[in-house]
Amino acid sequence: VVVVVGASLAGLQAAETLRAEGHTGRIVMIGDEPYEPYDRPPLSKAAIRGDFPASRTALPRRYTRGQGQVEWVLGSAAVALDTRRRTVTLADARVVGYDRLVIATGTRNRPWPAKDESGLDGVLDLRGRDDAVDLAERLAARPRRVLVIGSGFTGSEIASTCRGLGLEVTVVGRGQTPLVGALGPVIGAYAGRLHRGSGVDLRSETTVTRLEGDAQGRFRRAYLSDGETVDADLAVVALGAVPNVEWLAGSGLAADAHGVHTDASCRVLGQDGHARDDIVAAGDIARFPHPALPGRSLSLEHWSNAVDMAKVAAHNVLAGPHELRVHTPLPSFWSNQFGVTIKSIGIPADAEEVMIAQGDPAQGRFVAVYGSAGLIVAAVSFDQGRSLAAYERMIADGVPFPRSIDAAYPVDAACPLPAGFPRAEPPVDTSLSSPRPDREYQAPAATEPSHV
Ligand SMILES: Cc1cc2nc3c(=O)[nH]c(=O)nc-3n(C[C@H](O)[C@H](O)[C@H](O)COP(=O)(O)OP(=O)(O)OC[C@H]3O[C@@H](n4cnc5c(N)ncnc54)[C@H](O)[C@@H]3O)c2cc1C
Repeated sequence: VVVVVGASLAGLQAAETLRAEGHTGRIVMIGDEPYEPYDRPPLSKAAIRGDFPASRTALPRRYTRGQGQVEWVLGSAAVALDTRRRTVTLADARVVGYDRLVIATGTRNRPWPAKDESGLDGVLDLRGRDDAVDLAERLAARPRRVLVIGSGFTGSEIASTCRGLGLEVTVVGRGQTPLVGALGPVIGAYAGRLHRGSGVDLRSETTVTRLEGDAQGRFRRAYLSDGETVDADLAVVALGAVPNVEWLAGSGLAADAHGVHTDASCRVLGQDGHARDDIVAAGDIARFPHPALPGRSLSLEHWSNAVDMAKVAAHNVLAGPHELRVHTPLPSFWSNQFGVTIKSIGIPADAEEVMIAQGDPAQGRFVAVYGSAGLIVAAVSFDQGRSLAAYERMIADGVPFPRSIDAAYPVDAACPLPAGFPRAEPPVDTSLSSPRPDREYQAPAATEPSHV
C-alpha cells in the first residue's frame, strides 16, 4: 500500500507516476479538502475574474482515472504519523496503514495576525477553491475598493485581476517594490510600473497596521504604517505561506518551519539526519538540497517543481537503492499579471548582479539575466518567455556573466547592477508567495532545524 497524504498537485502526480510505472498495489490518497485534486494557478486569475467557476479547475488524470485506481479519503486531515508502526491517523480517528508514504501536504496561507480583525466580514485570503468562489462572488458585487495586503505574486495577480474588472485597488507591500523577494528591486521596479501603469494605488515600503470594521462587523478601513488610511470594502491578505507540518509532530522526521527536509532523492530525513527508504516528500512542503546552493536547502512554491518532484519521489519510494533518481531541477515559474507573462528560470535570489540582456523594459518586453560569482544563475523575462530556454542551457552550462545573448537586441542597460537581494544567510526561500509580515522578502534567518 502506498499512502499519499495531500490530495493536490504533487499528491496526484505521485499517484499518476506510480501507476504509469506499473505499480499494481493499492494507492490511498488522503486529503483534508473535500475535493479531488484541482489546479491552483487559475484561482488568482481566470476563476476570480469569473471566466469560469472555481469548480472547473480539476487536474487532468490519465493513469488514475479508472475505478479503484486510487482510494480517496477526502475531507479528513491526517493528524499524526507513526513511522514505527507505519500508520497515519486521521482527524476522525481512522488509522490508515502504509508500506510506503508520500508526504505532499503543501503550504497554507499565513494568516492575518489579529484574529478579531481577520474575522471581519470582507477580510479574505486565497488558497483553495472555496476561497476563490467567495472572492469571485464578492468581486462580482463590485466593491468600491479592494485592498490587497502583500505585493508578492499572489497579491499582484489578485490586484491585476481586480483592475481587469475595473475595480479600484490599493496594494500595500512592505518591500521596496512588488515581487522584490523573487526578482530583486531592480526588476521588481518594472513590476511596480505594471501596477501603477494599470491604475493600482501601490504603497510600497508600507505595512497595514490595523483593519477596522463598522458596527455590523464589516471591514471598512485599513490603517497604514505611514499614518494614512485606506477605505475599502474588501481586504485580501496575501502574506505568504507556511508549511503544513504540524501533523508530523512526534514522528521523528526532520520537519520544521521550513518544511519537510529530504535528501536529493526526495527521501525524507529522520531527525538523526538519515534518509528513510519508505517515506518521500514532494511539492511545496519539501525542503531539499540543490547543487546550485552547496550546503543549503531550498523550498519552491512553484507548480512545475511540485510536478517534477512528485515524479522523482514516486519513482524513488518504490525503487531499490541502485535505482534512485535525483531531483535537481532548475527552478522555474510563471505569473500572469497586468497583461504580461513573467517567467523565471534559475534562482534570482542567489544573484549578486543583474542586467538587461535582451529587449527593452520601456517597451515592456525584456529578459533580465542574473549573475553570481561570474556565472549566469537565473533569467527573468517579461513577455519574452521564448528566450528563456536559451538561458536555461547557459545556466546549466555555467556560461560567464555578464553576457548579452544577441547583439540584434538593444542592450540598453548592459552594465550589470547590484541585484539588491538582502544577503541573508541560508536557507534561501524562493517562494512564489508574498513575504512574511515580519521580514518581508528576506530569506528566513539561518537556523538549526527545530524539528517538530
Ligand atoms: C492562488 C494561487 C496561484 C498560484 N499561481 C501559480 C502560478 O501562476 N505559477 C506557479 O508556478 N505556481 C503558482 N501557484 C503555486 C502552485 O499552485 C503550488 O506550487 C502547488 O499547488 C503546490 O502543490 P502541492 O501539491 O505541493 O501543494 P498544495 O497544492 O498546497 O496541496 C497540498 C494539499 O494537502 C492538503 N493538506 C494539508 N495538510 C493536510 C493534512 N494534514 N492532511 C491531509 N491533507 C492535507 C491541503 O489542503 C492541500 O489540498 C499558485 C498557488 C496559489 C495558491
